[in-house]
Amino acid sequence: MTDADVVLEVRDLAKYYPVRRGIVLKRQIGEVKAVDGVSLSLRKGKTLGLVGESGSGKSTLAKLLVGVEKPTRGQIFVEGRDVSDLGRADRRALRRNIQMVFQDPYTSLNPRMSVGEIVGESFAIHADAVPAGGKDKAVRELLDRVGLNPDHVNRYPHQFSGGQRQRIGIARALAVRPRILLCDEPVSALDVSIQGQVINLLEELQDDLGLSYLFIAHDLSVVRHIADEVAVMYLGRVVENGADTEVYDRPGHPYTRALMSAVPVPDPTLRDDGREIVLEGDIPSPLDPPPGCHFHTRCWLAPLLEGSADAERPDGRPIPAVCRTDSPKLVPQESPDHHAACHFAADAARR
Ligand code: ADP
Ligand code: MG
Repeated sequence: MTDADVVLEVRDLAKYYPVRRGIVLKRQIGEVKAVDGVSLSLRKGKTLGLVGESGSGKSTLAKLLVGVEKPTRGQIFVEGRDVSDLGRADRRALRRNIQMVFQDPYTSLNPRMSVGEIVGESFAIHADAVPAGGKDKAVRELLDRVGLNPDHVNRYPHQFSGGQRQRIGIARALAVRPRILLCDEPVSALDVSIQGQVINLLEELQDDLGLSYLFIAHDLSVVRHIADEVAVMYLGRVVENGADTEVYDRPGHPYTRALMSAVPVPDPTLRDDGREIVLEGDIPSPLDPPPGCHFHTRCWLAPLLEGSADAERPDGRPIPAVCRTDSPKLVPQESPDHHAACHFAADAARR
């Protein structure tokens, strides 16, 4: 590892799920490439925003990072150490350093456990993480830390609002004093008015505790507020990444442009040109992704390009042959830390 600031890095990470058919003799008929060759890095004290439509592989990536799923291929480095090289004890210590905040605060908290039991649960797994003052005191402090009343420690999840439940989820994640939080759409299930409060809390905690976040969202506007760097995923692959300013001001991938256009902005002057790009159709099945550039079947740019008449698309719109045959690699844009995987990224940026 060259960069000491990098706390979490993945290289060429992949997760393929076999798809089986049949009742008795289950035959494998294919595989879902949920994550297909992803490389990313997360810096200390920073937030990497991971964005993409539902089904693009974001949660699978998070599951690989916390060890719930085993990768089909690729490497995961935590603070410079390859996770697969570690023994059991080391791996457990490392697990403690990466905690998860889940999307749905209604289903991710056990309704039969009190808030105190939920927040203190991981002390049972990581006994060495219990602070000197004892577990109960630690739990009360954690509740206070996330803006909940410590006297409510014996209440049950149903007695709290959605936003408060997500605070419980955050307190639970913080209990064992991790250095990295994986937040998997932590505000997607909350009212817009509550989303900002939870994001502000996460930002405060990051500043106070020096935490690094992988912040997953399907909505670019949520990520824009909190992320220092952004990675955009489409059908298991990263199609664009870079500093937030680069990605938002000079998006190189037509998919990123489309996602940005779909974001309602309160102030229209914030949108670069006021034009709306409509992302047509649903995300294709990852069981049978389109050949070449995965995005070509929905690309708004390809039909506008010169030379696109040499190939026909079923709906009659012409697409350049290279988009249908060659999978584009991530290539540096104007700024060398900004990458986009589009054969025509330069054209996308100009339009
Ligand atoms: P996202 O979080 O971006 O919505 P996911 O990582 O949940 O995406 O899913 C990516 C793809 O992998 C989807 O097509 C999903 O159906 C598939 N997938 C996820 N988990 C499994 C699994 N356990 N078995 C089979 N397919 C899965
Ligand atoms: Mg998900």
